Amino acid sequence: MFRKLVSLKPYPSRWAYTNIQSFGDRLKTPDVLIIGAGIVGLSIAKSLLEQNSGLQVKIFEKESSLGLHASGRNSGVLHAGFYYSPDSLKARFCKEGNLALRSLCAENDIEVHNLGKIVVSKNEGEDQLLEQLFNRGISNGVKLELLEKEQLFDLEPLAKTHSRFIWSPTTAVADPQAVIKVLANRVESLGGEIIFDRSFNIKEDYSGKDSRHVVNASGSQADRIAKSFGFGNQFSMIPFMGLYRYVPKSKLPLKRLVYPVPNPQNPFLGVHFTISASGSVKIGPTAIPLLNREQYSLLENWNLSDIKESVRGLTSMLKGNAHDLPGLFKAEFPKFFESQLIKESSQLVPNVSGVTGWKKMRPGIRAQLIDINTGQLVSDFLVEGDKCSTHVLNAVSPGWTAALPFGKYIADRVISHL
Ligand SMILES: Cc1cc2nc3c(=O)[nH]c(=O)nc-3n(C[C@H](O)[C@H](O)[C@H](O)COP(=O)(O)OP(=O)(O)OC[C@H]3O[C@@H](n4cnc5c(N)ncnc54)[C@H](O)[C@@H]3O)c2cc1C
Repeated sequence: MFRKLVSLKPYPSRWAYTNIQSFGDRLKTPDVLIIGAGIVGLSIAKSLLEQNSGLQVKIFEKESSLGLHASGRNSGVLHAGFYYSPDSLKARFCKEGNLALRSLCAENDIEVHNLGKIVVSKNEGEDQLLEQLFNRGISNGVKLELLEKEQLFDLEPLAKTHSRFIWSPTTAVADPQAVIKVLANRVESLGGEIIFDRSFNIKEDYSGKDSRHVVNASGSQADRIAKSFGFGNQFSMIPFMGLYRYVPKSKLPLKRLVYPVPNPQNPFLGVHFTISASGSVKIGPTAIPLLNREQYSLLENWNLSDIKESVRGLTSMLKGNAHDLPGLFKAEFPKFFESQLIKESSQLVPNVSGVTGWKKMRPGIRAQLIDINTGQLVSDFLVEGDKCSTHVLNAVSPGWTAALPFGKYIADRVISHL
């Protein structure tokens, strides 16, 4: 990195010996402008500032407060890292991110609930997938056990499985809102500036000299902003709504998180049980395709260009046989109703059928990228850009868990271009 900086012109070479000095200072503009103060944008800013205290880093956040989108509306699960293909960025950063997030929580008095996770199978077909999942986790270096049905009762008496199950002791839960808040405080204490109610717009905010580098970490808007810079042209975004229902833990005293074997045709984990940091038991999230990217309720945030993009993305999903779109609609839409969500989750925890008094939680929306040319939902994180801009596309789950090392990876990339 430093070798590259020394060779940079026209900056005086002395700049390379200490921290990178602020060229932006001289222009009264930031060195790095980050779009979006979600967990990804904040993690990038933190890493940039920790590595180079002289940098001027600004974050534009279009909302008036933190965590109004995915980073504040997720399940709060610190994933262990066993779902992802070993050569993926997700596998590379999830396991490390789990450890990094634990340290951040410990340093800031945020409780991490070390509950562990159980993945159960519903039938013989899923037994094979379970084993494949276990093997993948082992390839990723994740601590896991594949145990026999008889051992399930000791770990989670309320769950059931067809034959074997996976035990993941390093899966945990923390409060996503608390995490994003301490990250923002850290960025500000390092000299970063978060400007709320400030929506980035390429025409007004980018003339090529407004900042040395722009980082697009805008979540559900990332493909759109990338396209305005000439990147990500073959992609579109399909929003998938994640609905949850919850009851106090006293009504369903689960000890562990309980998950199904994921459907290999979808990049989602399936409706599961989590125990929130505040002690509620949640079922969800669904993966209901939506037309609008910020449509958290039926009447909210209708947007014509969102609709066009979603329809374009959904119709492209009909290409090839990577996904089963009619099957997805058939499986997901009924889950708007509590009865269907309970019916599906009762295959993992039969006692759920007798529990009443479920309440709705505020839903989240996954900003899922699709390759329009192939009709395939993109499974890994994707980063595109050049020396002037970097675009974080498809920061889907486990983006929250992986954010700190993933943020460093992006920050290193940005620094190499300054
Ligand atoms: C239902 C659900 C459950 C999930 N569960 C988990 C989980 O348990 N564990 C896990 O690891 N991951 C989970 N995830 C994934 C995780 O939440 C995301 O990967 C992560 O939050 C992505 O962070 P982000 O910063 O990219 O996006 P966001 O949090 O969406 O942040 C992007 C920010 O950019 C801002 N923005 C957008 N456009 C502009 C603009 N033009 N100008 C300025 N600002 C702009 C937005 O307002 C927003 O604040 C889940 C996601 C969902 C939806």
